[in-house]
Amino acid sequence: MNNNEEKLIESIILYLRKNDLDTDTHIYTIDRWIERGEEYLVDSKFVITSEGGLHFMLNYGDPEEFYDLVESFGYFIEMGHSWSYGFYCDEVILEQKEDCHKTYSDKLKDKRWKEKREKVRDKANHKCQDCGSLNKLEVHHCYYKYGLEPWQYPLDSLRCLCSTCHKKRGSIEMEIRARMADLKTEHLSTISEFLYGGMSSYPPQKVAKLIKNLNVNKEELLKELNKS
Ligand SMILES: [Zn+2]
Repeated sequence: MNNNEEKLIESIILYLRKNDLDTDTHIYTIDRWIERGEEYLVDSKFVITSEGGLHFMLNYGDPEEFYDLVESFGYFIEMGHSWSYGFYCDEVILEQKEDCHKTYSDKLKDKRWKEKREKVRDKANHKCQDCGSLNKLEVHHCYYKYGLEPWQYPLDSLRCLCSTCHKKRGSIEMEIRARMADLKTEHLSTISEFLYGGMSSYPPQKVAKLIKNLNVNKEELLKELNKS
């Protein structure tokens, strides 16, 4: 398995977990897949099987963002059965060897980033996703992972922001990361689950208001914390 393939698999795992599509999903190296005696996809690089969320999305849902993520690594998907998906590498991979010598600003001129950036802007209807402004739109990476190229991120991890909101966002994300230093990983995990459970099931502004009220009403909050 090469480095690019490992990065793709890590990105797929994160994407599926973030979107709650990872139940009943298994990843097979091609050797393990062949050992199973399967008839299809034996010429692929690796195979994913799913009878959960991924299966539903690929067969009945809207898989465009997932395909986009896979393509950004120079791969494409073929379906074996409705529950088995082979990942194949196309020729773009050859170009990627040269990418490690480029500076970050050179990479932002790459056509793969320009195309990804355009998709993010289209998805946001060419408006800032925070304030609605139509001016000076930029595309923000909500996280960075060492070794990934700017275009190797899922569309739902990128945000179309005006330059003012982009600056603000950068500093608040930095502040959150700095505060994380005081917390154990298990605390972060609880916060992540809370955000997923709350903000993806209810309007984010409603959940944010609730959290703000808890903070404002410090007496109530302390009373609650002192109970246990
Ligand atoms: Zn804005």
